[in-house]
Amino acid sequence: MTDRRTHRMGQIFLINKDIAKMEAEHARDKHVLEIGPGPGILTEELCKLAKKVVAVEKDRRLYRELKSTLHSKKLVLINKDFLDATDEEVLLKDTDIVISNVPYSISGKVIGWLSDRNMQAVLCLQKEFVDHMLAKENTRDYSKLSVITSLSFRVTKIYEVSRGNFRPIPKVDSTIIYIKPLSSGMTARESVIIGALMQHKKKRLKNAIEDSRKSLGLDRNDIQKLSSNLENGEERLFKMPPQKILETARKIFEYQKEKDSS
Ligand code: SAH
Repeated sequence: MTDRRTHRMGQIFLINKDIAKMEAEHARDKHVLEIGPGPGILTEELCKLAKKVVAVEKDRRLYRELKSTLHSKKLVLINKDFLDATDEEVLLKDTDIVISNVPYSISGKVIGWLSDRNMQAVLCLQKEFVDHMLAKENTRDYSKLSVITSLSFRVTKIYEVSRGNFRPIPKVDSTIIYIKPLSSGMTARESVIIGALMQHKKKRLKNAIEDSRKSLGLDRNDIQKLSSNLENGEERLFKMPPQKILETARKIFEYQKEKDSS
């Protein structure tokens, strides 16, 4: 049975060591960050191959258990909510890669975190979540996540993991992916603008901008000026490919910058 805490913390543990070993292959001679080590099936394999492993676990009980069972000079174990941790706390000067069976509830935030830092990663995620990441314009699943993913990473599916490899057995299967940052990626500010616009993905671009006015820090006058400058203002956002949305975000960013400096 899963209790409420188990559910909230996404505590679904991998029980297949071969899968952990396969993920850990990407850690060879690297400085690795692991999010949510839990009982440590992956952590143990990472410690065998990596140069150094920083693992961040939110649950105090699991943190204590892992601290007492896994002894490795390479391991730095931190008891903290990953989302509250600063870069100084979790990143080494030269962290190479994030390897994690990601707690489901923070998957979206982890992708944003990696995108903002241009960090490569091997991640085990819910299969449906990966489908959302890879969704193309004009499909139901196309969202902020798909746009950010497409602009930030090249995604390679490594392995499909069926639900029977976890305990307690979840309702969905998982997929392990490797994501490599694109050098042409966007900035964190552009990503925030894209996030605001995609909240209104069914609207025409000019209306989506109008509706995100407050979060973009713009007034009606700004909106008018901006809209007159857009060639695709009448297009619905969910039909626009990521690159087009990025171009719009850049225009908005440039406008914000000019406004702030005037
Ligand atoms: N990596 C382990 C555990 C995966 S379950 C395995 O593969 O078996 C997810 C783990 O992340 C749990 O241990 C949970 O307590 C932890 N966790 C959940 N939310 C977290 C957060 N915000 N920061 C750090 N750890 C978190």
